[in-house]
Amino acid sequence: MENPEGWKTKKKILAIFAHPDDAEFFCGGMIARWVDQGHCVSYCLLTKGQRGFHEKGMDLTTMAEIRVREQMAAGSVLGVTDIRFLEHLDGELVADIALREEIIQETRKQKPDIVVSCDPTNLFPAVNRINHPDHRAAGQAVIDAVFPAAGSPAYQFNDKLTATEAHQVEEMWLALTQQPNFEIVLTNYLEKRIRAILCHHSQVQATAEELLDKYLKPSLAREGTDAPAYCEKFLRIIFN
Ligand SMILES: [Zn+2]
Repeated sequence: MENPEGWKTKKKILAIFAHPDDAEFFCGGMIARWVDQGHCVSYCLLTKGQRGFHEKGMDLTTMAEIRVREQMAAGSVLGVTDIRFLEHLDGELVADIALREEIIQETRKQKPDIVVSCDPTNLFPAVNRINHPDHRAAGQAVIDAVFPAAGSPAYQFNDKLTATEAHQVEEMWLALTQQPNFEIVLTNYLEKRIRAILCHHSQVQATAEELLDKYLKPSLAREGTDAPAYCEKFLRIIFN
């Protein structure tokens, strides 16, 4: 297969998002493709999605357990088994210095080549939608952790961090963006992405057929064919 990233080696990729299901919804096709190509992908999720319910009688602890299980199942469909959950509460993420420190620490420990998150400047992803404040906070905190702090030995915030060495990531990829500079056709990975999305039973009511219909766009048909296609878009930042 072609190598649109231009990478010459296998990469260690760390995806950092707010909730269980964000990785699959925002860039599940790309994650499936990266795993398929031999890159090593892991997740760090900042909350356990405790507030992802609408019915009365559910409590935050039970919901967290359900969503962790769903996320582990979804990850294994895509080939991601290294999934770490931080202890923030769904709906209350704030891109403050404390969250930034945790992400710096995670980055310095895991030493990824590539960090993936979502674009914090995307306030209105569609005319009928407001981007979840946790998504924006997560994206902002990740950006602020990666630059300039994670790669600079000058940033030692507290005693915990003095034990971790600075680590400079090579690239940052932001999904859920309205200013993409990298677009890729991932029709071949859509079926796998949908199977992963469907693992999030508590969040998804649609069937596989309905999701296929939603995500396969005739408008994206390529190269003289009229076959509908599926694309993912990113804002890719290459540090040098
Ligand atoms: Zn989310």
